[in-house]
Amino acid sequence: MNSPEVVVFDLGKVFVDFDWNTAARKIAAHCALQHTEISERCLTASVFQQFETGLVDSETFYKEIKSLIEYQENFEQFAIDFGDIFTPIPAMIDLNRKLRAQAIPTYIFSNTNPISIDYIRQQFAFFAEFTDYVFSYEHKAMKPHASLYKVVEKVTGSQGHDILFVDDNYDNVQAGIDLGWLAVQHGSPQTTHSALAKYYAI
Ligand SMILES: [Mg+2]
Repeated sequence: MNSPEVVVFDLGKVFVDFDWNTAARKIAAHCALQHTEISERCLTASVFQQFETGLVDSETFYKEIKSLIEYQENFEQFAIDFGDIFTPIPAMIDLNRKLRAQAIPTYIFSNTNPISIDYIRQQFAFFAEFTDYVFSYEHKAMKPHASLYKVVEKVTGSQGHDILFVDDNYDNVQAGIDLGWLAVQHGSPQTTHSALAKYYAI
């Protein structure tokens, strides 16, 4: 069987676990609202999606959230409260290393924002171990919009069955399949390992 030239991975819930409620709890220490109210107001705010689509920068996002929930601290503290919510998933980091050891190019393809990425880059060495990165906020589009998948095809130089895509979100996976990519819906490191072992000696 021909192996796909490249493997494209989602980040959240694939290489790092996270829960926005963790951020809401940290933020609650610096404002008068309960964390549940903070989650409700922030996650439903249009500025959140604008942030991950790159339509507003970190400073603007901070100012909008600050007024939305009357957050009391400066931007530096906010970046910690908002960014420090990720836990690496060792079995997936190991899987990426096995692919890279065989000279398979691997990519991160994520709906995300600069505060989260700055935090992850600073804290987790494994994040440097990919060939390249496609972040929603750098291209003004989010998965599952096809335009962002076209960026991946350009960055990887591959398309169709030469791209193997791994993402935990069904709609994101489906959008890849619609473009002719091979795709795996990530459930656990074990099931994704088995799926990739059909193509690579890992
Ligand atoms: Mg995900």
